[in-house]
Amino acid sequence: AKSPANYVPLTPLTFIKRASKIYSDRTSVIYAGVSFTWRQTYHRCCRLAYALRSCLNVVKNDVVSVLAPNVPALYEMHFAVPMAGAVLNAINTRLDAKNIATILRHSEAKVLFIDYQYVPLASEALRLLLTGSNDGNSAQYAMPLVIVIDDVDKPTGVRLGSLEYEQLILHGDPRYPGEDVEDEWDAIALNYTSGTTSEPKGVVYSHRGAFLSTMSLIQGWEMGTEAVYLWSLPMFHCNGWTFTWGVAARGGTNVCIRNTTAKEMYKSMSQHKVTHMCCAPIVFNILLEDKPHERYKMESKVNILTGGAPPPAALLEKMENLGFHITHAYGLTEATGPALVCEWQTKWNQLPKHRQANLKARQGVGILTLADVDVKNKKTMESVPHDGVTMGEIVLRGSSIMKGYLKDEKETAKAFHKGWFLTGDVGVIHPDGYLEIKDRSKDVIISGGENISSVELESILFKHPNILEAAVVAMPHPKWGESPCAFVALKTSGTTTESEILDYCRRKMSKFMVPKKVEIVKELPKTGTGKVQKVELRKIAKSLQIS
Ligand code: ADP
Repeated sequence: AKSPANYVPLTPLTFIKRASKIYSDRTSVIYAGVSFTWRQTYHRCCRLAYALRSCLNVVKNDVVSVLAPNVPALYEMHFAVPMAGAVLNAINTRLDAKNIATILRHSEAKVLFIDYQYVPLASEALRLLLTGSNDGNSAQYAMPLVIVIDDVDKPTGVRLGSLEYEQLILHGDPRYPGEDVEDEWDAIALNYTSGTTSEPKGVVYSHRGAFLSTMSLIQGWEMGTEAVYLWSLPMFHCNGWTFTWGVAARGGTNVCIRNTTAKEMYKSMSQHKVTHMCCAPIVFNILLEDKPHERYKMESKVNILTGGAPPPAALLEKMENLGFHITHAYGLTEATGPALVCEWQTKWNQLPKHRQANLKARQGVGILTLADVDVKNKKTMESVPHDGVTMGEIVLRGSSIMKGYLKDEKETAKAFHKGWFLTGDVGVIHPDGYLEIKDRSKDVIISGGENISSVELESILFKHPNILEAAVVAMPHPKWGESPCAFVALKTSGTTTESEILDYCRRKMSKFMVPKKVEIVKELPKTGTGKVQKVELRKIAKSLQIS
């Protein structure tokens, strides 16, 4: 029979308790000149959880929001907030005040922690919230309690509200064990989608989903107990793709950095002997522009997990040549971060480097928590043949998938269909079972009835020696309905012309895929999470004349 001895709710909170016992003296967190052990980090979390309840009156299911870069406080809150029975809402620091105010109002945040660097941004968001002018809604709203997080290494004295994070911790009790997780389906965190294709939505995760996703990702990436993890990926992205909890599960070391410049990243890699880091492919350009070997000694290979946008095969090859070991993952906020990993098969080691890069550019196979991944015809919900050619909607099912969208039954019902979660992405499945994304449904270009994958075009353009980044969108065409329009930004060292790029395309791709227009721009417009804003590019493309 089920009893407390054999049936315990799954929660990542058990990871830190375990780390504090068996890795008690090992370094848990390093940030600038400060470092903690696992025993200290655990006790700081216990204190904070206690203070949240006793000083700030936080109760079960309250939302605690935070606006901070990758500093120790944000790491600790990933444990302390759910230990207090509350729900952590880490907000994207690149959003503007209006969006932040909208999130605070929608989530009904009870407490807002603000890193000192974001005090001006947060003050503006709070002003909009107070006046109701962010969304024209002046209904009464209980303002969140504000706590400033000063720099733990070099305090600045910047304040907003009456309490500072370290003071709050001092009010806590290190013996507080945290609230019991009664039901593993209870919410642990709330993360808003970045709104690349629609309004931001509040994605709610359960303790169970967070536990299982963390377990499968540390397994899928083969993260060992000696891992030294560099926080290049913001923790506010799906709780750092679950590695906030994952590093504790392995008793590894978190290397926190405030800014993700190439200099800062390479310095940390060499100083702390980093073994693992996550980042979007866009960060590769930053890492490649620098010349690490001239300044830093890299003793061992750094394992990088990349995802969030399609990494062109040519870029993967360059990074591998630089000495990084890349694993490619695909996921989305609704799937607690990475849901598929391009699991490497040893037989591929025999292949030439560029073939390996092409295989690695595929999005891969479901992580262990996913019960199933498929590509289906959206209308009939029939599976498409696994021939690597027939496109359909990528659908997922399993314990990594969110509970639903906060206070939005309509959108939740739309996302779940016939027992599957619809990703809104279009892909193919190859005969070996590996999935390859072709586009977001909204980005597919339909030219004369043919589907053209913008991802495919972009990866060809990326191979051009002078192109730094490329984005292809649909533009209206009198004969074909739609046709591809390419926007490219050049490398600082590169010069080329639009007609030369067009000639290059004619040599490299089928005729129907060749863009009807190429625009050279200084930089591609990006969202708060660094994704290309195709909506903006489509507007520009619409106004361009086809010559
Ligand atoms: P938003 O949908 O607002 O951009 P997400 O961060 O959840 O917010 O983005 C998830 C989307 O990012 C996926 O639906 C997919 O389109 C894209 N994506 C994620 N990983 C990859 C990848 N490895 N390759 C291609 N696209 C990816």
